[in-house]
Amino acid sequence: MKKYHLETLAVQAGQERQSETQAMNTPIFRTTAFPFRNAEHCAALFALKESGNIYARLMNPTNDVLEKRLAALDGGQAAVTLSSGTAAIYFTITNLATCGEEIVAANNLYGGTFTLFDAILPQQGITVRFTNVNDFDAVEAAINDKTRAIYVETVGNPTLEVADLERYAAVAQKHHLPLVVDATFTPPTLLRPLAYGANIVIHSLSKWIGGHGAGIGGVVIDAGNFDWTDARFTLYNTPDRGYHGLRFAHDLGENAVPFATRLRTVGLRNQGPTLGPDAAWTFLQGVESLPLRMARHSENAQAVAEFLQNHPRVAWVRYPGFQELGKKYLPWGAGGMVVFGVKGDSRTAMETVDRLTLFRLAANVGETRSLVIHPASSTHSQLSDEAQRTAGVSPEMIRLSVGLEHIDDLLDDLRDAL
Ligand SMILES: *Cc1c(COP(=O)(O)O)cnc(C)c1O
Repeated sequence: MKKYHLETLAVQAGQERQSETQAMNTPIFRTTAFPFRNAEHCAALFALKESGNIYARLMNPTNDVLEKRLAALDGGQAAVTLSSGTAAIYFTITNLATCGEEIVAANNLYGGTFTLFDAILPQQGITVRFTNVNDFDAVEAAINDKTRAIYVETVGNPTLEVADLERYAAVAQKHHLPLVVDATFTPPTLLRPLAYGANIVIHSLSKWIGGHGAGIGGVVIDAGNFDWTDARFTLYNTPDRGYHGLRFAHDLGENAVPFATRLRTVGLRNQGPTLGPDAAWTFLQGVESLPLRMARHSENAQAVAEFLQNHPRVAWVRYPGFQELGKKYLPWGAGGMVVFGVKGDSRTAMETVDRLTLFRLAANVGETRSLVIHPASSTHSQLSDEAQRTAGVSPEMIRLSVGLEHIDDLLDDLRDAL
């Protein structure tokens, strides 16, 4: 399906025309197991000599359609869905690095990811070295012989800085490290990080891809272009006791996709963070309108950002589309997120939030509905004033996730509240 445009892939990729059931929409396969043809077939599947459905912790035909569709949209070789975006991130890192190894990451990460990297991974002996986004001298300085990946978000949180993916990819290639990119804030059709040299892309499906605030899920997409035979990648070169001494970088055969295969077998099969088929089906409905929705989210957010820039009660506005790197990497639309500061203090910002009626106060982003939050008193409230400033959170700052309502209604709501 590679020759088709993204809009076509969004509604068609991954679904076989001649399915047994002849259903037009993808059925939800509510089953735990899948019968084998015979004992020989069963043995081949268990030995990973042949691929096929065994047990729904590893794979399910509903999830398979979603995985193929998302891999096609991002231009990857294979995708694995997981129970949340957070699970997608955790199992990606532990699929690359083990105790005693390290990751270099940008420091402007989604809050949950920052905690995972800063507090949880170190308990398991994985060190994460944080650097300011786009500070490539710092990235170079943080890399050593224990580094196993570079990790960055396309658009950081909450400052909405755009990562220079080409330069990250160049550093990663120079040191032969995989570049892992969380592209949740800029799903296809806005940005496809693999086209700029990333090796692995992660999305939280809970945000724009699902798009309707209707469930939790995540996906990891493998470009299939990283050479894992480098002996530093112990997880791929050491015979795996759980799989008859299999070495994932060497023994999977010609067209293998070692990272995605290991994520499915060691990750889903042996550690269990599976996405259920009902949620997978819900996300498939979202994917079909993703290109349309991303265009409208971006158009509305751009108009909101421009309106705020010209409003006398507003001190400053940040929108990825206003940045040089945003113009380079996001020519099709810069996404649905806008942050701004009101003239005043924390109290002024909280009162402004309370006066909004269409923008609903919620700790989420990427829904059809417009959402608002005051980070200093909510998502970042556990940080000291000093730490908040370092993270780019100021008392007067308000974060908007701009939805699909009519732009005039959104601007009226903001005008009234300000
Ligand atoms: C929401 C989010 C996550 C976590 O995803 P969940 O599905 O909520 O676990 C990770 N990264 C980014 C950028 C997010 O916005």
